[in-house]
Amino acid sequence: MEKFGFAISKGRQIDYDANSRHIAAYISEREPSFRACIECGCCSGTCTTGNFTRFSLREMHILMKRGENKEVHDNIRKCMLCGKCILVCPRGVNTRNVVTLARQAFQIYESNAV
Ligand code: SF4
Ligand code: SF4
Repeated sequence: MEKFGFAISKGRQIDYDANSRHIAAYISEREPSFRACIECGCCSGTCTTGNFTRFSLREMHILMKRGENKEVHDNIRKCMLCGKCILVCPRGVNTRNVVTLARQAFQIYESNAV
């Protein structure tokens, strides 16, 4: 059979049943404003860390809500907690607390796994 130089793409669906959203749940319980986020990206647009790296708080929020935590785990420490994002958030999300709680949650769940 002739090859056309392309293949079927890997599945990219989000499997909410397979993913664990425990990090997002931990944050929502302690910082309810997390739920008000509309993923507008204003925070990422103004982010100090985002000026120098690929870090995006908007992306972190989306991934945590999907339960895709690996990338969040690897990147959430890049935030410098400067607070600029709080000033521009149209939904009043306490973003610094969201980041702090995310770090805390990873630490707790990791130490429980040991
Ligand atoms: S600016 Fe606020 S509402 Fe917009 S993505 Fe960031 S945290 Fe969410
Ligand atoms: S607190 Fe973190 S996410 Fe917000 S602007 Fe500063 S570095 Fe970016």
